[in-house]
Amino acid sequence: MIDSPRPNPNEWLDWLSRPRKLVAVGHMNPDGDAIGSTLGLKHLLEPLGHEVQVVVPTPKPNYMNWAPGFNTIWDAFQNEKEVLNAIAEADAIFCMDFGVLSRAKSLEEPIAQAAGFKVNIDHHMDYEPFAQYEIRDIAASSTCELVYRMARLLPQKPHINADCANCLYAGISTDTGSFRHRNASAHTLRIAADLIEAGADVEFVNYGLYSCQTENRLRLTGFCLLERLKVLEQFKTAYISINAKEYEQFNIQPGDTEGLVNLALSVDGVNLGVLLVERPDSVRLSFRSMGKFPANQLAAHFNGGGHYNAAGGRSQESIETTEIKLLNLLQQYESQLNYKPFEIHSS
Ligand code: 5GP
Ligand code: MN
Repeated sequence: MIDSPRPNPNEWLDWLSRPRKLVAVGHMNPDGDAIGSTLGLKHLLEPLGHEVQVVVPTPKPNYMNWAPGFNTIWDAFQNEKEVLNAIAEADAIFCMDFGVLSRAKSLEEPIAQAAGFKVNIDHHMDYEPFAQYEIRDIAASSTCELVYRMARLLPQKPHINADCANCLYAGISTDTGSFRHRNASAHTLRIAADLIEAGADVEFVNYGLYSCQTENRLRLTGFCLLERLKVLEQFKTAYISINAKEYEQFNIQPGDTEGLVNLALSVDGVNLGVLLVERPDSVRLSFRSMGKFPANQLAAHFNGGGHYNAAGGRSQESIETTEIKLLNLLQQYESQLNYKPFEIHSS
């Protein structure tokens, strides 16, 4: 066991040359990158003899249920005892796709108290130094990209198998909006290409992500676009709000609202898309911007944060009060929202 804080940064990679008991934790409301990177790590390290238990603080998103190993993930709602035991007994805890421990929700204290050392693999700006070892890079497209980097740093130079490749490819794909955002750099695309060579099946991953929706989820999308989308030209903003009644009516499952905020952002002339979902415990907000508006700055008004163009937050007020707060903030940010992300020249 390595117990001195922050020794040689490569020491923990050498430490992985003997079989270890590991836990990989994804953040609350885990997304494609959180699930892809934790499962990718499992498929990378288990063939080397390690034991890797993936855990998440809140339920898993259905749209990742095709991912190899998805059914082995424990969430702290359904398997609280097992999750807490695994964290307490781990030799090391890999904290994936979050830079501040509060993103581990109910697992924050158990992780902080655990005897095992912590490794933080992440690409978010929000950061606190809670881990002894880190692979952090805010320029990386995704945490999955950093797991690929870690594979290259390991002294064993492990083989990336097809299960690992599919998981890592999925996280890179979802965090780049299917390779549509600016973070889909040439470097990132080269890694994606390597993963395809290692066995990632692009059609299979996209089928799992986008062509296995429940009928309810698709109808929820239709309902939101027809009945709930509000376009505020003055603020170059479009938002969708879903109240508690609708949340019940559409039997919304974890992950079902993923992607709706991008539909709001896709309206011509809109620079900011917002999604408000009234959940049983709080109102959850997602922000997406196109171009120079800092979505994470707006999210900070709702106890949140995230990336420059993609951020989230929450509010304990009712959805109506939260909506009013949002509208007031939009007035405050009006001049910052008024720009053209691109000049489109048609000839
Ligand atoms: P989403 O809207 O998909 O939930 O989140 C968008 C991005 O913002 C993700 O990269 C996510 O990690 C980040 N994010 C969402 N909620 C929070 C939050 O409450 N705090 C911080 N720091 N980041 C968040
Ligand atoms: Mn991510």
